[in-house]
Amino acid sequence: MVSFDNTQIAFSSKNSADLKRSYWLFKMVSNPALVNMGKSLTTFAIKTHLPIKGIIKATIFKQFCGGEDIKECDKTIGLLGKFNIGTILDYSVEGKESESDFDACMNETIATIEKAKGNKHIPFCVFKVTGLARHELLEKVSAKQTLNAGEIKEFERVHVRVNNICKTANSNNVPILIDAEESSTQQAMDDLANEMMGLYNRTKVIVYNTYQLYRKDRLSYLQESFALAEKGNHMLGAKLVRGAYMEKERKRAAAMNYPSPIHDKKEDADEDYNKALRFCIDHIDKIGICAGTHNEKSSMYLVELMKEKNIAPSHPHIYFSQLLGMSDHISYNLAEAGYNVAKYVPYGPVKEVLPYLIRRAQENTSVKGQTGRELSLIIKEKERRKNK
Ligand SMILES: Cc1cc2nc3c(=O)[nH]c(=O)nc-3n(C[C@H](O)[C@H](O)[C@H](O)COP(=O)(O)OP(=O)(O)OC[C@H]3O[C@@H](n4cnc5c(N)ncnc54)[C@H](O)[C@@H]3O)c2cc1C
Repeated sequence: MVSFDNTQIAFSSKNSADLKRSYWLFKMVSNPALVNMGKSLTTFAIKTHLPIKGIIKATIFKQFCGGEDIKECDKTIGLLGKFNIGTILDYSVEGKESESDFDACMNETIATIEKAKGNKHIPFCVFKVTGLARHELLEKVSAKQTLNAGEIKEFERVHVRVNNICKTANSNNVPILIDAEESSTQQAMDDLANEMMGLYNRTKVIVYNTYQLYRKDRLSYLQESFALAEKGNHMLGAKLVRGAYMEKERKRAAAMNYPSPIHDKKEDADEDYNKALRFCIDHIDKIGICAGTHNEKSSMYLVELMKEKNIAPSHPHIYFSQLLGMSDHISYNLAEAGYNVAKYVPYGPVKEVLPYLIRRAQENTSVKGQTGRELSLIIKEKERRKNK
């Protein structure tokens, strides 16, 4: 029986000093005023070249990131690997808009694939299409607007970048995840993902698209994608997530006066997420799943579905995935029980991954003074070690 309550297993990779550092970090970010102040101060300090990189690197960066480059992630890859948890190297540099940046991002993703080749500790690689293309161009393509001659050439280059990544993933036998993003750009990404799956998922699942089940239309889109895969005689790769852009989506829909694509209630997103899991499990011989979630109920539901269908925990088509530094109680307990688990391990120069780190801090601030989940798990484990 898997249980997510076992904090001894959850924190088995952390010595007392690590646990203490995590405790203070989550304690600090639980204070919303401190997080807001920290966000402004850090942004100011980085802009004015104040020497704060060392502090960030030893604290919040150490909790949530693997390193500043691929080489620096080796320690994290090894440590996770010791506990049978895979690494998904996630180059987390955001907000770049030039053609040379897009080429650099493609090359970096290809470097992660080369690193993953034949390495059992790196079961997937990942990329975001907005790392390879301008947001506005993707919006235009998604809305089926007419592109001018320059934009047609520009989108051809995007296509080449995506294909270079997927082709390299295929030739190195490394599955590749394509992250989902805002709904205004998603159509272009879905079309690219479907094309890549058609090309490279002929006999095994190499390319995975991401389905955001907080969207009202994504459960039926997942089913449509499967029908398309069946028709095209290829396999479907499906990373299932709830979705990370809820506030932005709602704001955009309100400002532009169209119905929000996001479910009105969290329970509806939860229900669709679990239905999507069931749908994939029902077709597991032809679908590869990566369940990207920190939700205990959904993770346990997937375990139960696997049991119900007599599917071995280590079935190569089923992975559970969480972010580094979060929900170790899910990742480590699942891995200990023999399930396939991989952590997203973000990396990049400290300055560049700052927006990612600020989001993680904001996500862990206290709601109405309650102790957050990560903090309460750490407190429980500290107590357990004290009373041992
Ligand atoms: C490995 C991994 C990969 C990921 N990849 C992506 C990706 O490619 N694209 C992406 O967008 N996100 C991605 N995410 C983030 C993910 O979409 C969620 O934001 C995050 O994991 C929190 O959701 P949860 O399933 O963990 O659980 P929970 O904490 O139970 O759910 C929180 C989520 O529920 C949804 N929600 C909350 N309130 C409401 C409401 N009132 N109505 C409707 N929905 C609501 C939101 O999506 C919110 O993020 C990834 C997460 C992980 C762990």
